[in-house]
Amino acid sequence: MKLLDVYSIYDIAIERAKGSLLWDEKGHQYLDYYGGHAVISIGHGHPHYVQRLTEQLGKIGFYSNSVRIPLQEQLAVKLANASGKTEYHLFLCNSGAEANENALKLASFHNGRRRIVAFSNGFHGRTSLAVAVTDNPKLAAPVNQQSGVSLLPYNDIEALEDFFRRMGNEISSVIVEGIQGVGGIREASRPFLQAIRRLCDQYGAVFVADTVQCGYGRSGHFFAHDQAAVEADIYTMAKGMGNGFPVAGMLVAPHIHVTKGMLGTTFGGNHLACAAALAVLEVIEQEQLMNHASSMGQYILDQLHQVPALTQVRGRGLMIGFDVPGSIPDLRERLLHRHRIFTGSANPNVIRLLPSLTISKEETDYLLEAIHTELETCSSNQ
Ligand code: PLP
Repeated sequence: MKLLDVYSIYDIAIERAKGSLLWDEKGHQYLDYYGGHAVISIGHGHPHYVQRLTEQLGKIGFYSNSVRIPLQEQLAVKLANASGKTEYHLFLCNSGAEANENALKLASFHNGRRRIVAFSNGFHGRTSLAVAVTDNPKLAAPVNQQSGVSLLPYNDIEALEDFFRRMGNEISSVIVEGIQGVGGIREASRPFLQAIRRLCDQYGAVFVADTVQCGYGRSGHFFAHDQAAVEADIYTMAKGMGNGFPVAGMLVAPHIHVTKGMLGTTFGGNHLACAAALAVLEVIEQEQLMNHASSMGQYILDQLHQVPALTQVRGRGLMIGFDVPGSIPDLRERLLHRHRIFTGSANPNVIRLLPSLTISKEETDYLLEAIHTELETCSSNQ
């Protein structure tokens, strides 16, 4: 049997990893400045994480949501402390798309409305509603096409206000990333997020903050949306939450009405998933990784801003992007094949840096040096 051919992949098989280093089956070492797509939050094989998961597996790995799972309660307390959303309620599931799907559905249950507002360049996942609010028609099959979704220009307060004036009483929810990831590292402006909050309050719509990629401390805030000093009604989370173990969830504000049976999942919140999520929060706290993400992110941004060939350097914390210079369109491939550094990409030709929150200055300098070398090689060949 062959694998369904849906991914464009590098012919590299990673066999083991530690911190921000990876080794392939031939023993070659790589620097992971991609974090397996913003998933690796506390570094590969962190000893505390390995120990907590191993111990948990020795006790019990899974039981269904038909019984009390105290680890879920511990995780809720830990999340409340880490995020500051102490009054919110936690629902656990398995992936970012599923978290968004549940958030949009819950919003609609809550206010009985159907229309969803999403934004240009946004990405929210590939399940039915999540893909319908994602700004990429190629990802949506005819069966996913929803007439109730309105895609508005990102960071355009006037367009948003105008839309609410006309349709406000029909809008169930507004979903927005704090920093667009797949869209190329574009941050939602503070006034834009504040306008969403104000309009949702005014018209009874639910503000859904998709923090799947930009959350869990990556931006230096627990949720990237926190920079705007507004609270969303629902926060969705995934990627960094389990450091590679599939676990996702949403934090739901107390005024959102739920009844038993409204939401559910077989695997969500199982013992092993909770152990992974707890281990991540413990390490973030013990090693002060949010502060580290802030300062290391600022260091990278400062260094990249000084490279004249790089334009549009942007981002916050350890979620950074820049446009690849036209003179060196294959910069990402060069970094991988000549320097053995993994980075991320976004269309049209953006490099995304999404390393573990534990990334060191030495590792960062190695990346910066490689970028300099490639830019110099390219300009001396011209
Ligand atoms: N939301 C955002 C902002 C994402 O970046 C992603 C994945 O890249 C998703 C949702 C979907 O998450 P998942 O792939 O876990 O379903």
